[in-house]
Amino acid sequence: MGKETYVCPYCDKAFTDSHEARKKHLAGRAHKANVKRWYDSVDAGAVRTKGGAWTPAPAVATPTLPPSLQPAPPTAFLISLAEWG
Ligand SMILES: [Zn+2]
Repeated sequence: MGKETYVCPYCDKAFTDSHEARKKHLAGRAHKANVKRWYDSVDAGAVRTKGGAWTPAPAVATPTLPPSLQPAPPTAFLISLAEWG
């Protein structure tokens, strides 16, 4: 029986499976970033197909804000040039 290969589902990275190698990978910064990216994208509605391709999340709808927090209309800060004499 040969050495098993472990493929990290978050990183798509394959390496010889051993306790030390897996522990080192799971503690790595890149792996943690990929896990965070995965869960963030799942929260946003992204899906990953069996082939490994990502389907990006649909555009997030603008939340309904109270009037005091809504962005100003584009004309709110127009500077009107006064004609002086
Ligand atoms: Zn990983």
